[in-house]
Order: sequence, then C-alpha cells, then structure tokens
Amino acid sequence: MWNPFAMLREIRRNSRRVTRNRFDRVQGAGFVLFAFTAPFIVWRMESLRVRGTSETLMFVRVYETPGENGARGRMQATRIREDERTASWHGVLPLAEVELVQRSEWRGWPLVTSHTEFASEMEVTRLATCPASREPAVRNAADAVCRGAGMRVDADTVRSHAAAWVFSSGAWWVMQSLALAAVLAPLRLGWFLFRRTRTAVRQGRIDRCHCPNCGYNAKHSILRGRCPECGSELYERPEF
Ligand SMILES: [Zn+2]
Repeated sequence: MWNPFAMLREIRRNSRRVTRNRFDRVQGAGFVLFAFTAPFIVWRMESLRVRGTSETLMFVRVYETPGENGARGRMQATRIREDERTASWHGVLPLAEVELVQRSEWRGWPLVTSHTEFASEMEVTRLATCPASREPAVRNAADAVCRGAGMRVDADTVRSHAAAWVFSSGAWWVMQSLALAAVLAPLRLGWFLFRRTRTAVRQGRIDRCHCPNCGYNAKHSILRGRCPECGSELYERPEF
C-alpha cells in the first residue's frame, strides 16, 4: 500500500544537509541583535531628522476708520482672504498686515513618527502709518478677530504615530541586516576561494603520493599512513 509518510521520510533522508558556516551564524546573530537596535535607531532619528513647516491659518488686516473733524479714528481688524491681500482699501487708514501662523515639526525617518503642532503665533507687519507704540493695540485687535474665528491655537500638541513606529523599526531592521550581509559578502567570497585553493593543492599532493600537509614525497611510507616528515595523515577524507 502506498504510504505518503514513508515517502516523506525517504525525501528527508536523501535531502542535502545544509550546514551553517561561521558567516551564517554571524548573520543570524545580526538578525536577532538588529531587532533590538532598530527601535532605538528610530527613536534617535526623531532628533536627527527634523522637518519644520509653517502654515498660515488666516490673514487679518488692521486699519483705522477716519474720525470726525481730524480726530483719531477707531482701530478695527477684519479677516481677509489670501487673494485680498493685494487689494487696496478705500476710505480707511491701513495700519498693519497680520498673519496667524502655525509652525509644525515632523520628526523621524523613513516615516514621520512624531508630529508636533505648536501654538499659533501672530506675525505683525506694521505699515508706515503705524508707529511701534501702537503694536500692542494692533495685536489685541487682531487676536480678538482670530479668537472670534476659532483659529487661535493656544497649546502645543505632540502626536506619536504607532504604525509609523512599527514600519520604521522594520525598515531599520532590514537595512541593518542588509548592511551586515554586504559586509560579510566579500569575506564569504575570500573564505570560499581560500578553501577551494587549499583543497586543490592538497588533492594534487595526494594524487602524487605526497604528504598533503607539507608536500613531502611519501611514496615509500604510504602504507604507514603517516608522513615521516610532519606526522600528519596521508589520506584525507574529502571535504564536501
Ligand atoms: Zn608531511
């Protein structure tokens, strides 16, 4: 009766045994080690790779409406669209252009693992008509408009991205393992060539009945099995 398990045993018995050499063991140790170092590198990259951006949340124009009989007018602030910034204002005295800016920091590589949004800041550009002494009043007027629009951000927020952490750690794990493989590759090749040359030399000596170790002509002591010069065995088990 046909027994698949007997067949499997047969295949297993006849399959070529793969022996791990010292380079394979170093690579294997690297795989384990890099799994622990990768998250540490991701953490370090958060301070090494920082990209800052700034975004203007809104534009505000501060101006003064002329008062009666040359008296000082009333300071007013209005939210404007970005395309209105170049438009001239009729009948009012422009005082300052204000931008509400929010800076952000994106940290980490290859993916952004941490994202910080800072509290928004007002950037005031005073026009020639506005003396420096009036800047606090300009700021107050603009701030009231920003708060009224609900655009003012008062506190920094830091967000950590868990999925990016996992992916970046995996990427660093793979990159470190590949780097180790690249370092080991020429060593593997050198070792392979050294072994192959050495085997060829020793086999050539054995073929001529010389000692494989020192090359002494051992024709007359071949039955003793040992080299009279250096004492090593004259027959080697072939290396696979
Ligand atoms: Zn010898």
